[in-house]
Amino acid sequence: MSNIVAIVGRPNVGKSTLFNRLTKTRRAIVNEEAGTTRDRQYGKVEWNGREFSLIDTGGWVVNSNDIFEEEIKRQVSIAIEESDVVLFVVDILNGITDLDLQVASILRRGKKPVVLIANKADTFDLQYQAAEFYAFGLGDPYVISAVNGSGTGELLDEVLAHLKSEAEEEDLEDLPKFTVVGRPNAGKSSLVNALIGDERAIVTDIAGTTRDSIYTRYNKFGHDFYLVDTAGIRKKSKVNEDLEFYSVLRAIRAIESSDVCILMIDATRGIESQDLNIFSLVQKNRKGLVVCVNKWDLVDSKEVKDIKAFENSIRERLAPFTDFPIIFTSALTKQRIFKVVETAVAVYQNKTRRISTNKLNEYFLPLIENYPPPSTKGKYIKIKYVTQLPDTQVPTFVFFANLPQYVKDPYIRFLENKLRSMWEFTGTPLLLFMRHK
Ligand code: GDP
Ligand code: GDP
Repeated sequence: MSNIVAIVGRPNVGKSTLFNRLTKTRRAIVNEEAGTTRDRQYGKVEWNGREFSLIDTGGWVVNSNDIFEEEIKRQVSIAIEESDVVLFVVDILNGITDLDLQVASILRRGKKPVVLIANKADTFDLQYQAAEFYAFGLGDPYVISAVNGSGTGELLDEVLAHLKSEAEEEDLEDLPKFTVVGRPNAGKSSLVNALIGDERAIVTDIAGTTRDSIYTRYNKFGHDFYLVDTAGIRKKSKVNEDLEFYSVLRAIRAIESSDVCILMIDATRGIESQDLNIFSLVQKNRKGLVVCVNKWDLVDSKEVKDIKAFENSIRERLAPFTDFPIIFTSALTKQRIFKVVETAVAVYQNKTRRISTNKLNEYFLPLIENYPPPSTKGKYIKIKYVTQLPDTQVPTFVFFANLPQYVKDPYIRFLENKLRSMWEFTGTPLLLFMRHK
């Protein structure tokens, strides 16, 4: 279920400090993704068993002097359009500024829930100064200190109260959901149109299940799944699509509503930072991945060795996660577009694959016997048993050991590689945990 919460406000009020505080716990347990500059602006927050996406708009503002304020206001308008809850941060030490008032008036006109946050209340007595913020007409200010964390629990409770409930997608069939993501002009809409084509008119759109994701059922050639897109992919709103902030919000929405993401790269440009950012969104959401190198018709040399070189360069850029399929397509000539569909289906199967406890232990126990985890601090580590957890979003394996805390990451990666070489898990993330037994 996709829930996006956006942090807005003028510079220096503490948006990124708040972002870091709220995303910290979750980030610590997620395997390190390929680092990108955008990691500081998009993350996941878990609170009381619920999860939402948090996005800090501050990082997307291009600071070019005179249009600066305009840029911020535009950012706020997009945040209202594209997110589910807006956190409006102001600075209790500084009080109200002109720009605060302008942002507040945009927020008042919007129809989204706004949570007003009076930040930098590091000490108790400062909270009384929050009264002036009633002037915004946005309700009660939540008084917090992003630096020391006070007040953030109540704030998160308030955010959860505004999230959409799980029930909203119930009228969808239980089918795989795929989405095509990538930067503008990679050829996403061309691919979707090539697949669905003119039949789109007779395909039932399941609109209105959620406000913003469109699920188109693809039911032919023996396949049955949903292609998920945000209104942006096929019906372009030219006004905003040049803004990375906007396309990222759109991509997040589609990624979160899907099982497998088809990441489209423009063959004539290779991998650029925007591609890495979108890849990182796919990873953070633990979705299946198919990389599709599009506009292959425009590439002169299509020798096998060049294809290999291209593949290798992509895997290098996306390392350490390299176990995913890469397909060379042309949405224009329709070359290999059905291969993309078949591959996404295969990745979905991998993502939902279950290995019996028997088979796991039959394979792993002798292997671990031969290659045990290196002993740490003179302690001998024994892994006794492994099992796959039922009903998880990605295949999740638990290894029971006498001293789980001493099993280091390189050994866990070794186990993951073994899982991938023994069973077909291409394109899906895997989670491995050590537990005490
Ligand atoms: P942004 O521009 O809105 O993202 O603001 P930053 O998060 O970069 O913070 C701007 C400055 O305010 C930094 O020097 C922060 O350390 C400081 N700051 C952020 N939150 C707090 C807070 O809760 N208390 C205090 N005293 N300073 C804070
Ligand atoms: P989107 O912004 O990712 O949805 O990209 P579009 O589907 O709108 O495509 C952008 C441009 O690239 C359009 O002019 C398409 O005709 C063109 N295009 C898309 N796919 C291909 C392809 O495989 N080969 C070539 N030569 N052009 C393509």
